Amino acid sequence: MTAMQAAHRALSEVFGYDSFRPGQESIVSAILSGRDVMAVMPTGAGKSLCYQIPALVLGGVTIVVSPLISLMRDQVASLIQSGVRAAYLNSSLTPRQFSLALENAREGVYRIIYVAPERLLTPGFLSFAREAEIAQVVVDEAHCVSQWGQDFRPGYLEIEPFLRELPVRPRVSAFTATATEAVRRDIMRLLKLAHPYEITTGFDRPNLYFEVRRGGDKDMALLRFLAEHRDQSGIIYCGTRKGVETVAGMLAGRGMDVVAYHAGMGEAERGHAQEDFVSDRAPLIVATNAFGMGIDKSNVSFVVHYNMPKDLESYYQEAGRAGRDGEDAVCCLLYHPSDVHLNTFLIEHSMDASPLDEDTQKIVIERAKERLRQMTYYATSSGCLRARILSYFGETLEGGRCGNCSACQMETQERDVTREAGMIVAGVMALGGRYGKAAVAKVLAGSRDARIREKQLDKLSAFGSLRSEGEENIRAMIDELIIDEVLEITDGQYPLLRPGPRAREVLRGDEPVRMSLHVREPAQKRVKMKPVADKGLLSRLVALRRRIAEEQHVPPFIIFTNATLSDMAVKRPRTRAQMLRVAGVGENKMERYGDAFLRVVGEYLDEQA
Ligand code: ADP
Ligand code: MG
Repeated sequence: MTAMQAAHRALSEVFGYDSFRPGQESIVSAILSGRDVMAVMPTGAGKSLCYQIPALVLGGVTIVVSPLISLMRDQVASLIQSGVRAAYLNSSLTPRQFSLALENAREGVYRIIYVAPERLLTPGFLSFAREAEIAQVVVDEAHCVSQWGQDFRPGYLEIEPFLRELPVRPRVSAFTATATEAVRRDIMRLLKLAHPYEITTGFDRPNLYFEVRRGGDKDMALLRFLAEHRDQSGIIYCGTRKGVETVAGMLAGRGMDVVAYHAGMGEAERGHAQEDFVSDRAPLIVATNAFGMGIDKSNVSFVVHYNMPKDLESYYQEAGRAGRDGEDAVCCLLYHPSDVHLNTFLIEHSMDASPLDEDTQKIVIERAKERLRQMTYYATSSGCLRARILSYFGETLEGGRCGNCSACQMETQERDVTREAGMIVAGVMALGGRYGKAAVAKVLAGSRDARIREKQLDKLSAFGSLRSEGEENIRAMIDELIIDEVLEITDGQYPLLRPGPRAREVLRGDEPVRMSLHVREPAQKRVKMKPVADKGLLSRLVALRRRIAEEQHVPPFIIFTNATLSDMAVKRPRTRAQMLRVAGVGENKMERYGDAFLRVVGEYLDEQA
C-alpha cells in the first residue's frame, strides 16, 4: 500500500469521511513526501485533518503547537473518540499530570501531542523531544507568530529555536486562516520553512448564507431573526462589553437560554459560559470578539453581528464560526450608521499609548480607516455580499452573483427609471451636497428617522417624493448613478453626495435610464436542494448523543457532529455496513456508538412502519 492509499484509508476508517475537501489531499501528500507546508485555509475548511492523517500514516510522533487550552482539549477529545492516542501538554495540567504525560510520551504511547509554545523549550519537554522520533511538527494558528497579526503570541517565536534543538529537523507545516500576504511571509520567515508547499484554498464557504439587515430597531431585528431560527445554536457578537450585557439581559428577560461572554468577566465565569454554550446547554451566547478563537464547536447554525466589526477580516473570521460542520448556516449583520462612528472613534484612539512614532501611527490609522470603509461598503451597498467578501480577499466570484445572500435573494427586474433618476438628482441638489447616501435615501423615501426631522429635512419638497420605492431601492439607484457619474461621492470621513458631470443630462431627461431593481423583500430562507433529514428521527439521535456526551463529560459534537447526525437521519441505516457509510462514522466510532444509534434508528423505523 502506498502512503496515499494509507491516507485514504485513514480518512474513511478513522474519521469516517469518504472524500477529501478542497486542498486537503494535496497537503497530506506534500507532508507525506517530506515537504514543509504553508497552508492558508478558511475557518471550518478542515485544517486539522491535513496533519492528523499524516500523523497516523507516518511512524513516530507528531507535535502540534497550538495557542489555546480549549482548542487542544477539544481536538484531543475528538481524536481519542476516533481511536487515536493523543494528549496535550499545557498549563492546565498539574506538575504531576504533566510529568506523567511526558513519561507516556517517552514510551511512545501517543501519536499526536498538542503542546503550548511556551512548553517547547522547557528542559523536560526538550529532553523528551531530543530522544523521540518526531515525524512532523505542526504549527496551528500559525499567524500567532506574526506581529502583524492581531493574535501575536510571543511564545510562537520559540518554535524555530526549538526546531534547531532537535537532532534531525522534522518536516514542519504551518496552518492559518489569516490570508494577508505580510502575515504569510512572516510565518515562513520566522519559522524558517524550507521551500514549503504553499497553498491558499478558496475563501468561499458555500454553505454560509450572508445577510445584512439595515435600519430600524436592532433589538427588534434580533428578536425577529431569533424567531426565524428557533431551536438552533448561535453566537451574537456585540461591539462592547456593555452591549453584551444589555443584549444578553434582554434575551434572558424573554426566557431564552443565553449566556454572556466578555473579557471583563472573571476567568471561571467565562469558562462556565463557554462550557454551557459548547455543550448545548445554552444554545445562545452573546459575546464580544474576545470569544471565539479556539472554539471548535461545529454545530453553530448562525452568527449574528449586533454591531458592525471594524473590518472584513474580523467579520469573516467571526461569521465563519457558523457552519463548520458543512451544514447550512446564516451570517447576519445588523447595521446602523452609529456602528461606523463607534469604530472610527476606536480607531482614532487605538494608538493612544503606542510606542510608534507619529508618522507610523498616522499610516496605521489611515489603513484601519480604509478597512473600515470597505466594511461599511459591505454593509451598505446592494451588490452580492459574497462577491464583495471574496473580492476583498482577492478572489473573484464567477458570474458576480452567488444566489445565496440577502442581496441576491432579492429578485430584480430591469425597468425604466428616467423619472426616478431625475428626482434623485433634484433631491441631491436640494440638499446642497451636504448629506451622504443614507440621508438622501431617507429624505426621498420619506423616512420617519428622528435625525431627518431634527434637521427639518422633512420640510423639503423632495421629502417622500420616491416613497413608493423604499429606501433600499433608492440606495441601489444612487449606487448605479454614482457608477454612471450622474452623482459623485466625496472622499473623507463622511462621504457626501453631490451632482456629477452627467447630472444635467439626467435632470433634462434626454436619455432614458434603465436599471435592475428589486421587486420584493428578501425571502426568509432559500430552497434547499439537499435530501431532507427525517426530523422525528433526528431529534431522537440528538437526544441519544446528548445522553452519551453527558455520561462521558465531553461536548456533544465530539461524539458525532450535527452533519453526521443529519446524514444519519437521511440515510436511516439498518445495518452496520450502512452505518459506516454515514459521513463521520469511522470504525472506532462505529465500535463505540454504532449499535446504540442503530437501535434508535431501528426502533424509530419500526414505529413508523
Ligand atoms: P479548521 O481548523 O480549518 O477551522 P477543522 O479542522 O476544525 O477546521 O474542521 C472543521 C470540520 O470539518 C470538522 O467537524 C471536521 O470533522 C470536518 N471535516 C474535515 N474534513 C472533512 C472531510 N474531508 N469531509 C467531511 N468533513 C470534514
Ligand atoms: Mg483549526
